[in-house]
Amino acid sequence: MNYNKKTINDVDVRGKKVLLRCDFNVPQDKVTGEITSDKRIKAAIPTIRQLLDNGAAVIACSHLGKPVATFDAFVKKQVEKGKNEADVTRESWEKSLRKLTLAPVAKRLSELLGQEVIFATDTIGEDAKAKAAALQPGQILLLENLRFAKGETKNDVEFAKALASMADVFVSDAFGTVHRAHASTAGVAAFLPAYSGLLVAKEIAVMGKALDNPVRPFVAILGGAKVSDKIAVINNLLEKADTIIIGGGMAYTFKKAQGFEIGKSLLEADRIDYAKEMIAKAEANGVKLLLPVDNYCAKEFSADAEPVLFEGDIPEDYMGMDIGPKTVALFSEAVKGAGTIVWNGPMGVFEFDKFANGTKAMAQALADSGAVTIVGDGDSAAAVEKLGFADKITHISTGGGASLEFLEGKELPGVACLLDA
Ligand code: AMP
Repeated sequence: MNYNKKTINDVDVRGKKVLLRCDFNVPQDKVTGEITSDKRIKAAIPTIRQLLDNGAAVIACSHLGKPVATFDAFVKKQVEKGKNEADVTRESWEKSLRKLTLAPVAKRLSELLGQEVIFATDTIGEDAKAKAAALQPGQILLLENLRFAKGETKNDVEFAKALASMADVFVSDAFGTVHRAHASTAGVAAFLPAYSGLLVAKEIAVMGKALDNPVRPFVAILGGAKVSDKIAVINNLLEKADTIIIGGGMAYTFKKAQGFEIGKSLLEADRIDYAKEMIAKAEANGVKLLLPVDNYCAKEFSADAEPVLFEGDIPEDYMGMDIGPKTVALFSEAVKGAGTIVWNGPMGVFEFDKFANGTKAMAQALADSGAVTIVGDGDSAAAVEKLGFADKITHISTGGGASLEFLEGKELPGVACLLDA
């Protein structure tokens, strides 16, 4: 895949209308609907500011949550959840949609930008069209939640065409959705010249380089719960990395494949053969594959469980919950001389304080490494941020799913559709 794409620095937007796909999928309080973190809105400001300052009229759009776009589909979903069809009302559907309006985002964005954000109550309807047509250079309009329209996630051509018809240029700045071929992430690029915003530009520059032309040694650290989620990533990185470190719950399937006893630890029995294959592939490719050599274990999966350290085999009534000190030393040593480090997934059950040390230690090792460091998933990013190391990391990706597919070497529709540089 070509990662060399045109950005907003390559286009004169003066006097043009720019359709800007943002990631305003913010967390909200379940009861009050209040935005609980405006990080994503803040992250969008530099691109928006640059476009407005350069004389563009910006038509911003985003999805928020997972609204069900039609009443019929809503009924079907509620019935699947066990509700009686007769009890599912139009009001309850409309209420579910109202909860996911982007109106509060418009308000917060306006506060952060220090200027009015005009809000359209629909996406391609009369209100959006009229407000987009009247929009002047330096002004910004936010469309209502894209997923209120059923054409969005289906990448419907007519919906994409209608969105595109309001603008002259498309800018993609929602990295979290570039792995999806939706109307607003990829479809519109069939009708408008497409550029990356500053956020997406940074994501593809840093991660593209790591995969295509990394500063070596290239070390990948993979963790988290499931091997099955990371199969394609491991397979792809075995072609590219010098060292692959595997920790977290997924490591135990690999330990089992090596013939160790793993007690009650997480195991994907149907992936043992795959793990064996990957161990063999690493050997054949000359990739160093590192697995935990000791583990903090518990008798039950609980925050209060007493951590007990075992080297090698894990007894039958224990489960591995975190990597042990020898493993931390082994992994940290491998990270030390690295030129590029990609990290995706925690080393243990980091949500429980007693089992968070391995994950913290890897965050520390990255921060101290001096390498180009890329953190790809939300859990590891949270660990890095909690420890105050965020500014020591080269790049913390804003899209978990998208960055995983990036590491898999897959073509991302929302990147592929952008103009080549
Ligand atoms: P994932 O969603 O695959 O990225 O995995 C993240 C989750 O993996 C976190 O919620 C961790 O608690 C969990 N995890 C990490 N290590 C272990 C382990 N040893 N046993 C069970 N779960 C784990």
